[in-house]
Amino acid sequence: MKTFLIIGGGLVGLATAYKLGLRFPDARITVLEKESEVCKHQSGNNSGVLHTGLYYAPGSYKARLCVAGQREMIEFCQANNVPHDVCGKLVVATNENELSRLKKLLERGMQNGLQGLQRLDGDEIQEFEPHARGVAALRVPQTGIADYPRVGAVLVEKVVSQNSRVVTNAKVINCSVFNGQWTVQTTAGDFQADYMITCAGLYSDRVSEMFGEQRAVRVLPFRGEYFRLKKSREHLVRNLIYPVADPRFPFLGVHFTRMMRGGVECGPNAVLAFAREGYRKTQISPKDLFDALTFSGFWNFMGKHWRIANSELRRSVSKKLFAQSLQKLVPEIQEDDLEIGGAGVRAQAMYPNGNLVDDFLFVERANALHVLNAPSPAATASLAIGSAVVEKVAEKFS
Ligand SMILES: Cc1cc2nc3c(=O)[nH]c(=O)nc-3n(C[C@H](O)[C@H](O)[C@H](O)COP(=O)(O)OP(=O)(O)OC[C@H]3O[C@@H](n4cnc5c(N)ncnc54)[C@H](O)[C@@H]3O)c2cc1C
Repeated sequence: MKTFLIIGGGLVGLATAYKLGLRFPDARITVLEKESEVCKHQSGNNSGVLHTGLYYAPGSYKARLCVAGQREMIEFCQANNVPHDVCGKLVVATNENELSRLKKLLERGMQNGLQGLQRLDGDEIQEFEPHARGVAALRVPQTGIADYPRVGAVLVEKVVSQNSRVVTNAKVINCSVFNGQWTVQTTAGDFQADYMITCAGLYSDRVSEMFGEQRAVRVLPFRGEYFRLKKSREHLVRNLIYPVADPRFPFLGVHFTRMMRGGVECGPNAVLAFAREGYRKTQISPKDLFDALTFSGFWNFMGKHWRIANSELRRSVSKKLFAQSLQKLVPEIQEDDLEIGGAGVRAQAMYPNGNLVDDFLFVERANALHVLNAPSPAATASLAIGSAVVEKVAEKFS
């Protein structure tokens, strides 16, 4: 009987456990999660969007797994009564300079096989979003929203019904290997397995290091802060309104998102955080900070992008600047319409030269696989990522 350990009870780890159980029904599969519940980090603190594959380089993992994963995620939500809504989104160009980027997005979406993309002129925008303004827009009818924490809960039920285990309060602290058998030390005791899969999100690099990997890339945490629209102003946004993203970054710019559990979120921004799980501005982890400051990638990144990093930081401390960004899309929005919302922290892997790892990144070994970079759209793509990981593992066994 094969034994597998999966580290990380976010959507990627849980979807991988589920797909592994389908592929190897006789295997003993255990998910180890350090928190008291699953999906406490990225998977439970995101924008809840079912992305379509609009932004990603054709042929990349992100493009392929997002397109396939969104289809599968919608079917999964339908089959398991998970609240979701394929409501469509608008990407709005607010000045003439953004028109060429909007055109490129349309072309990219078509290359990635998206259906029903529609270029709107400025005066057609209001048909879909009566309060949005711009010189042109791209309508993406396949985009949707979903209740990802509920997806995580259903995945746990499925994993358990497959006779696998999800062990919470089990922080992995060390590991050793003897005769091809892994022994993993956790705060909930020791676990053994023939094969390890790590899906540790914000700690993916450090956890893989415990299993003998060099940290060729390092995770930097980018906090995404949200405001919420006051209830009385929610009518200003029907569904999802996005700006045209800066192609140099994987972040999409502050936008409006109708949430599946109600309300409209505004954000997230993308501010370098001083702690990997730093959900508040004041949270500082000396270890995480030291890790970032001693990494050449951080300095190279700051050298290239200090202007953007600085303006993100300024907007993070100024509600007025945040409101101004939103006003470009919906001019009626006032600073007073915004209430403090939550925050999420994105795990973004970076190379020593300061370039961000653009695609999902998997490192395969004889008896281990590490998911080193799974930022957005990995919630949308989680089921497809699970299948891709299982394919790679199955190749090893065949
Ligand atoms: C602000 C924000 C907005 C986003 N919006 C979207 C969106 O709209 N749509 C979309 O598709 N994607 C979105 N994403 C991205 C998406 O949420 C993530 O890509 C996805 O959730 C990654 O899942 P994961 O399982 O890899 O990571 P996580 O959900 O972070 O899970 C990793 C898990 O590993 C555990 N762990 C870490 N170290 C250890 C250890 N030593 N021992 C045991 N367990 C450990 C952690 O506790 C955690 O639960 C967003 C992300 C953020 C932060």
